[in-house]
Amino acid sequence: MPPIRDAVVVGAGPNGLTAAVELARRGMSVELFEAHASVGGGASTEELTLPGFRHDTCSAVHPTGAGSPAFRDMPLAEHGLEWLHPPLPLANPFPDGSSAVLAHSVAETAASLGPRDAGTYRRLVAPFLDRWDELAADFLGFGSALNGRLPQSPLLLARFGLQGLRPVSWLNHRFRDEQARALFGGLAGHVIAPLGSLATAAPALVFALAAHAYGWPVPRGGSQAISDALAGYFRALGGTVHTGTEVKRLDELPPARAYIFDTSPTALARIAGLGDAYARYRYGGSVFKIDYALDGPVPWTSEDARRAGTVHVGPTAGAMDRALRDASVEGRAPERPFLITAQPSLVDSTRAPEGKHVFWAYGHVPNGWEGDLTDAVERQLERFAPGFRDRVLARATAGPPQLAARNANYVGGDIACGSAAGLQLMIRPKLARVPYATAHPAVYLCSSATPPGPGVHGMAGHHAARAAWRRLRSR
Ligand SMILES: Cc1cc2nc3c(=O)[nH]c(=O)nc-3n(C[C@H](O)[C@H](O)[C@H](O)COP(=O)(O)OP(=O)(O)OC[C@H]3O[C@@H](n4cnc5c(N)ncnc54)[C@H](O)[C@@H]3O)c2cc1C
Repeated sequence: MPPIRDAVVVGAGPNGLTAAVELARRGMSVELFEAHASVGGGASTEELTLPGFRHDTCSAVHPTGAGSPAFRDMPLAEHGLEWLHPPLPLANPFPDGSSAVLAHSVAETAASLGPRDAGTYRRLVAPFLDRWDELAADFLGFGSALNGRLPQSPLLLARFGLQGLRPVSWLNHRFRDEQARALFGGLAGHVIAPLGSLATAAPALVFALAAHAYGWPVPRGGSQAISDALAGYFRALGGTVHTGTEVKRLDELPPARAYIFDTSPTALARIAGLGDAYARYRYGGSVFKIDYALDGPVPWTSEDARRAGTVHVGPTAGAMDRALRDASVEGRAPERPFLITAQPSLVDSTRAPEGKHVFWAYGHVPNGWEGDLTDAVERQLERFAPGFRDRVLARATAGPPQLAARNANYVGGDIACGSAAGLQLMIRPKLARVPYATAHPAVYLCSSATPPGPGVHGMAGHHAARAAWRRLRSR
């Protein structure tokens, strides 16, 4: 008889890796199984275009990673993780070359929004400034409340909830000019829902506060460095990683006291025989992503965009709303997509040969969409960076089918592993006291389909491991 492990984890994305680490550091024997040839899931880096150009296949910039309570509690720097900060976290350029920016400093951010909105911005963020750690413990740590821990700062959380549970379009009514509205619209747009959707103000505020607390950094070497550091720490704790192993049935796995799945709820139901337990879980819109190898930096007209790690190309809140509505509600690809772009090689010379750059851009499209958005994306880029096309050495495109083929968690190309619009941002995969637990007493879910949702922060893995550990300890 093979020995019984304490825990088996399926899927080596940031949440699976974090869950594995959390259990191994409590002295448990843990094995991890990953379908792909390497660990990382949505935090992976590959040469997708030309030799020497290292592209992030999914996540590139990490507002919630640098300030994640789970990551900050691990010695990831000792395992090679180094955060690099672009001069500006984010720029939102306009056609006249001006831009709204999200800077590390509140003053610089407020100044970019113009005199009529600078004070409103300051008043909006003031109650939460210098309190990121408390807010992150409660907001990103939402799952700990479900795990029986009371919020650390209930008043702060309630104050945040009063703003955050509303649509970002409501928040935008406070601003008088387009700069601030576009800035907040773009931040909320990461959720892939129209700006009038419930609770879209929450991610917008979290992203803004993260910039003022820990910045929006990129890891040296690409997002793979986060995954490699987590895997390195896991191995140092005695854990075992098996790659190239797609798990199809629970009884294929070695005997264990707990099984933790970094998969979609649908896949978990299939693998663990949970029937239609998650039949009401909704998958959302997708993206069309292009990775570029460039002959030089992106020739943005806006000076600020040339210094920013992330550039949002809308340019206005209204245009963003139209593009997001097309993709997530109307079921069509937008004519003028709202682009989220990242330029990590501005601060990381390991990513491309000398003088060259990697650049990543995506626009939103409906779930399962099979078309090609390349021309619409590049026409939009040319409006704000004339001559962009002349700098392209090579491009690798991925729409919903390719994204889903890369990672089984992106059902229909949904990069959030389940729509994060409305109440499903927090209540996922379904309403339950412990959302990580399932009908099977030894089986847990830890992917971004559980609170606090998408992003590379490992917090869902952290909470799921804690739920499993509490049950194992009580036996
Ligand atoms: C294009 C794109 C851009 C993004 N940009 C950012 C960004 O800039 N910043 C940010 O913070 N987030 C970003 N994200 C989101 C982020 O990548 C995800 O939210 C995050 O990776 C989710 O982590 P996870 O561990 O829950 O799942 P994943 O990272 O998806 O990992 C799941 C892992 O499980 C494996 N797996 C699934 N099923 C099985 C099975 N049956 N057997 C074995 N293994 C299995 C998969 O192969 C995968 O490795 C982006 C995502 C995409 C797609």
